Amino acid sequence: AKAAGKGTFRVYETGMTERIQARRLLEIDLRRALALKQFDVVYQPQVDIATGAISGFEALIRWQHPVRGPVSPGEFIPAAEEIGIISAVSEWVLRTACREAMSWPGDISVAVNLSPVQFRNGRLLEVVTSALSATGLPASRLELEITEGALLENSDAVLAVLRSLRALGIRISMDDFGTGYSSLSYLQKFPLDKIKIDRSFIRNIDHEPDRLHLVRAIAALAKGLGMKTTAEGVETLAELQCVRSEGCTEVQGYFTGRPVPAREAAALLSSGVQG
Ligand code: C2E
Ligand code: CA
Ligand code: CA
Ligand code: CA
Repeated sequence: AKAAGKGTFRVYETGMTERIQARRLLEIDLRRALALKQFDVVYQPQVDIATGAISGFEALIRWQHPVRGPVSPGEFIPAAEEIGIISAVSEWVLRTACREAMSWPGDISVAVNLSPVQFRNGRLLEVVTSALSATGLPASRLELEITEGALLENSDAVLAVLRSLRALGIRISMDDFGTGYSSLSYLQKFPLDKIKIDRSFIRNIDHEPDRLHLVRAIAALAKGLGMKTTAEGVETLAELQCVRSEGCTEVQGYFTGRPVPAREAAALLSSGVQG
């Protein structure tokens, strides 16, 4: 037992060292990626449930690592947040998304993810307004997605920034709703236009009565508060039919479209397949 204990310890220690080394490499690579412009942005359709038409696209970052190939944002965004380069990365995504959205027809919007870190440095309003003025995108076509984490700390300052953004005509969405630190008081305190129901509530909703009731309640609550609701991660027709009958106003998921480059997004709009 003693030998096994020792062995286990050694394995654990090796694992730690490897993890730390992997993390250091990731940091170095991330800084280089930013400098060498190894990032891209892809766009996933957001579909209006009532009309079946695409109302906008969510901008999602992609990293093509020269050796590892594509690295998931779920892996590198948290690392970018920790090493303090998320603001630079996000600024690049925002500019790129605003510029590329200019090639889409008039009222199609683009939704950009914000990191909670971006609310801490006091530059967010300026970063957003300068992206709009540099690209010419009207504020009414920009949507910003925030997570509950952004609302946790220094909430008066966050509230002020959100109000200013909204006064410009930008819409604010609550992303991944129902995960993390959800609190219903946020829905009352913060100026929000849309709730995006996390895909963990949508997955298999046609076979999970509990999820159905939760989604129904969230959609009704949002409606009462004058907000839209997006069902995230809809992968099947059965899921789409459920979220439609439960009152969600929008869907985003593989069933209605995977993320694609800006040019393909434009082609989706003009081909009219969304109707
Ligand atoms: P998110 O904001 O919740 O974005 C939706 C994620 O769900 C995307 O993953 C999208 O590809 C994926 N997805 C969409 N439909 C489906 C579906 O039907 N089934 C399944 N299984 N997945 C679906 P992605 O692109 O890997 O991004 C992961 C997360 O990384 C995002 O989650 C977001 O939190 C973060 N992220 C991505 N791009 C950015 C960015 O530019 N800035 C920041 N701050 N975060 C980003
Ligand atoms: Ca999002
Ligand atoms: Ca989400
Ligand atoms: Ca997420």
